[in-house]
Amino acid sequence: MSLFEMAKIPMEKASKLINLDPNAKAVIEQPERTVEVSIPVRMDDGTTKVFTGYRSLNSTILGPGKGGVRFHQNVCLDEVKTLGFWMTCKCAIAGLPYGGGKGGVIVDPRKVSTGELERITRGYIDRIAPLIGEKKDIPAPDMNTNAQIMAWMMDEFSKINCQYCPGFITGKAVSMGGSLGRTSATGRGVITAVCEILKKKGIAIKDATVAIQGFGNVGSWTAKCAKAAGLKIVAISDISGGLVDPNGFDPDKLEAYAKTNKGVIAGYPGAKAISGEAVLEQDVTVLIPAAMELQITGKNANNIKAKIVVEAANGPTDSDADVILEKKGIPVVPDVLANGGGVTVSYFEWVQNLYRYFWTEEEVVERQEKMMVKAFNKIYDAAEKYHTTMRVGAYIVALEALAEPIKMRGIIG
Ligand code: NAD
Repeated sequence: MSLFEMAKIPMEKASKLINLDPNAKAVIEQPERTVEVSIPVRMDDGTTKVFTGYRSLNSTILGPGKGGVRFHQNVCLDEVKTLGFWMTCKCAIAGLPYGGGKGGVIVDPRKVSTGELERITRGYIDRIAPLIGEKKDIPAPDMNTNAQIMAWMMDEFSKINCQYCPGFITGKAVSMGGSLGRTSATGRGVITAVCEILKKKGIAIKDATVAIQGFGNVGSWTAKCAKAAGLKIVAISDISGGLVDPNGFDPDKLEAYAKTNKGVIAGYPGAKAISGEAVLEQDVTVLIPAAMELQITGKNANNIKAKIVVEAANGPTDSDADVILEKKGIPVVPDVLANGGGVTVSYFEWVQNLYRYFWTEEEVVERQEKMMVKAFNKIYDAAEKYHTTMRVGAYIVALEALAEPIKMRGIIG
């Protein structure tokens, strides 16, 4: 089964529960447009290498497309289409005036020089420039892309359009028109979701332990916000393996250590080393996969001992695991809700760019919290009302938001 087919399973369940018009479902199911581009790049050694990139505009029903660009050696069309679909649902759930989209370039950024990375980035924007823009489709960072890459993208797009175009992209540095509180937004939102689900389950924060898979942008900020909220992080992993410490990790110290250790956490003093897989199977209150898709699968779901799973990564749980976790009575706060803090603050960045008027970090944090708690409760209530999981509840909320405009715009009769 492809990732895209798997992603549609909870949507199928949700559409049956709300009796969604099959015509509306057919519209929602397919991306509006997906392009593949080839990007010729002059390499440092004088040769030219042609890279492949994608941009999938999933939906413009509720607003312009919105979604990150991923640089990874395994990026493929199926992945980009799926991530675009999740963005449409994520934006609809968060109540943002956006559709969804996603992009990617097949490249391992560790294997190219900074100059080559810049030329790949600019070449990608040259290729997709006619399709993107502040009212068309708005890119952002994703795996292996960051504020520097967003700055090159903005510079290239501004040159092509002969004007200053900050609003066509989010996730920029503050000096480039970015928003305060954007870097930490996804992790902060994950912890808002953790605190809300703990409240619903009657578990006090002081009694809750956490395991986090991944220590990149999302994982490290999730860890920092977890600690600030009073949660104890007892297990953590990254690509280099896992660590446990029953006394709890200090994420700032771990981050400082990783900076001196080629960016990875292996060998952190005072903690016990375990495998990355074992981190997923720790007996904790909350397990937070924050690395990549398909980490909790039919193979390891039976070993999950956490009381709750909160998905910080996109698509970390496969459809077989979903069934197993539901049977085991482990609630899953789905990705489209739990990691929606990133796109919510991207939306704030876009609004600030359009108005050329900037907010304080306190304003950003307060507005994000309000929007996330509202989205959380809508989904929790939908799941209760239809006696289903929060994942299906999330798709119910998204489909209900999309169905009426599809009809009123005359896309279906
Ligand atoms: P990142 O590249 O900054 O970090 C990824 C982390 O995962 C790294 O620490 C890496 O070492 C670790 N990792 C990779 N493979 C692993 C494995 N097998 N086991 C354990 N750790 C592993 O990426 P990110 O921006 O933090 O994104 C992580 C996830 O969150 C992705 O699924 C992404 O789509 C999703 N997401 C990101 C944002 C955002 O704002 N950056 C927003 C929403 C969702």
